[in-house]
Amino acid sequence: MENLNKINIIPIGSGSTGNCFYVEIGDYKFLIDMGIGYNRCKAALNKYERSFEDLDAVFVTHGHYDHVKAAPAICNHIPCKVYTNKSVMYSLRNAKAEKEILEADETVELFGDFKVRMFSVPHDFAYTCGFTFESADTKISYVTDCGKMNKRIFNEIKDSDVIIIESNHDVEMLKSGPYPLQLQKRILSAHGHLSNDDCAATVLKLKEAGCSNFLLAHISKQNNTPEVALHTVRSLLNDDTIFLYACPEAGDDLLQF
Ligand SMILES: [Zn+2]
Ligand SMILES: [Zn+2]
Repeated sequence: MENLNKINIIPIGSGSTGNCFYVEIGDYKFLIDMGIGYNRCKAALNKYERSFEDLDAVFVTHGHYDHVKAAPAICNHIPCKVYTNKSVMYSLRNAKAEKEILEADETVELFGDFKVRMFSVPHDFAYTCGFTFESADTKISYVTDCGKMNKRIFNEIKDSDVIIIESNHDVEMLKSGPYPLQLQKRILSAHGHLSNDDCAATVLKLKEAGCSNFLLAHISKQNNTPEVALHTVRSLLNDDTIFLYACPEAGDDLLQF
């Protein structure tokens, strides 16, 4: 299938049950995280005539179960290396693929003109990272499992064509929801997850910096809904020209930019 779009993304799964994105930027094809089962990933890729055999790389943000649980199964089928940070290695010990450790805050030219940059985000795993990916004049960013947005992260992602950003919970829904107090505190902490309000404030600033395509990710099933997340961000932006998409818990949409 001929495709002239520069960026293609299939949000295969996003949320606390599992995370996995398929991304094409220019000629490069990769997965971010492996928290969704092999068969579901394969079905989502096949729907758009994509395949595991064509992957150039897999990137893993951190070792929480919802990001690595399918790594052993997926790694049996990938022809490429898995790139991650040092602290994830133990979580990937049963995944039989070649692994390479990326250094934080360094832009690495992996192949051709494909560049990746890993940076830390505050979260309750030893080291959790976000990524930016660039090819030619195109850039996308991925930031989820981020307790608090800060200037450093903002500066990493601010010049992206597409930004995948966490919009985890509605604070009121979380506080009045079924989660025990201790878990609520963890999620709300600066090493937990980004709320809809914090996401909205960040998206507004990113819009002012010139960004116009946002995928809201890691939306909680218990403490949020895609509609609430979208509404919160949309209300603050007050700009219908901005592309906003709520990543589903399980999805097979192909988004093209
Ligand atoms: Zn997560
Ligand atoms: Zn996490």
